[in-house]
Amino acid sequence: TTKAPLPQLDASLLRTTLNPTPRPVPLPHSPELASQTICTDHMITVSWTALNGWAAPSLQPFGPLSLMPTASCLNYATQCFEGMKLYRGHDGKLRLFRPQLNCNRMLMSTTRIALPAFPPDELLKLIAKLCATDGDKWLPKDRPGTFLYIRPSMIASDPSLGVQRPKEALLYVVLTCSALAAKNLVGGMRLLASKDDMCRAWPGGFGYAKVGANYGPSLVAQGEAITLGYHQILWLFGEDCTVTEAGASNFFVVWRTREGTLQLVTAGLEARIVLDGVTRRSILELAREKLTSGHGGNLEAVEVVERTFGMVELEEAASEGRLVEAFAAGTAWFVTPVGCIHFRGKDIEVPMVGAGAGRYTAVLKGWLRGIMWGCDGWEGHEWGYVV
Ligand code: PMP
Repeated sequence: TTKAPLPQLDASLLRTTLNPTPRPVPLPHSPELASQTICTDHMITVSWTALNGWAAPSLQPFGPLSLMPTASCLNYATQCFEGMKLYRGHDGKLRLFRPQLNCNRMLMSTTRIALPAFPPDELLKLIAKLCATDGDKWLPKDRPGTFLYIRPSMIASDPSLGVQRPKEALLYVVLTCSALAAKNLVGGMRLLASKDDMCRAWPGGFGYAKVGANYGPSLVAQGEAITLGYHQILWLFGEDCTVTEAGASNFFVVWRTREGTLQLVTAGLEARIVLDGVTRRSILELAREKLTSGHGGNLEAVEVVERTFGMVELEEAASEGRLVEAFAAGTAWFVTPVGCIHFRGKDIEVPMVGAGAGRYTAVLKGWLRGIMWGCDGWEGHEWGYVV
């Protein structure tokens, strides 16, 4: 006998319970905002069991979850998540930025840690529904250029302590208020290169997936960086000090080769020790479309390169005057110019134009900003997903 297929994740089954006690929206510069603990009035939850598949999704008042102390996620790090933003555009619209990529990446992450699969489009519909429910109140129309941070997560809620594939899971999505975008780092981001006693990811591991297990163990180094006056760790790998990522952002340099070619370079994905960032991918695509030779524009054309490169190359480029700019790119920090990298006892200075960003950093950031917030002639770009 063949078994009937189990119910899939299905956004059309959504059940809504509105919050009877909605909370006030914090003011733009309030201390509450900086705490990054304020969520909006609602959340999405969907439970899954190996026996019955996906249950009907629920949009319900934001609040705590209930889990057994033996839950798999609390013991074995069976947890993954996404990070994206809801933008209040300058044209008044609410937009997501390439959210299909986040939903696909979420599926990839769940697969890595034995959590259940789902159709990514159904997750996107649920996210969009939550954004449509809370967006208008929490991102007032008279505050264009603001955003909410969207955190979809999946955890194994299975209460069995056995070390095994979980038989119960919970998918949930919350929206948080965040003040991070306001941060404009004077002098750029200061990076502390990781030492050889600690690495973030390794071949055969899970650095390419957005699983919580990648982040907890990075916090000791991150805390040390802050104590020493740096903003983020520049994560290196291996004896040749391969440059991978800057904190929870991808890392880019613009340099001139000894032969005189101007290049935009970032670590490749093939070693599977770097996250396939949505911002990273978008920067590579925009640069290939608009900054390579034959595309005109005011800036000198660059060659766009994804490949393994090391700190020695970066140091040499700096000391030979070939390092042009560097920046970190990701949802949280957006596109942030890097001003300095501390490596083996020395600060490598990265050029920045005046107190601002380098020219390539600035132009790429401007294009992305245009798409995300619907301005500067980018209003109808296909990467903007209007909610
Ligand atoms: N690398 C890591 C380790 C990250 O956590 C993130 C944030 N998701 C990024 C890079 C940037 O990815 P994205 O542009 O999709 O935010």
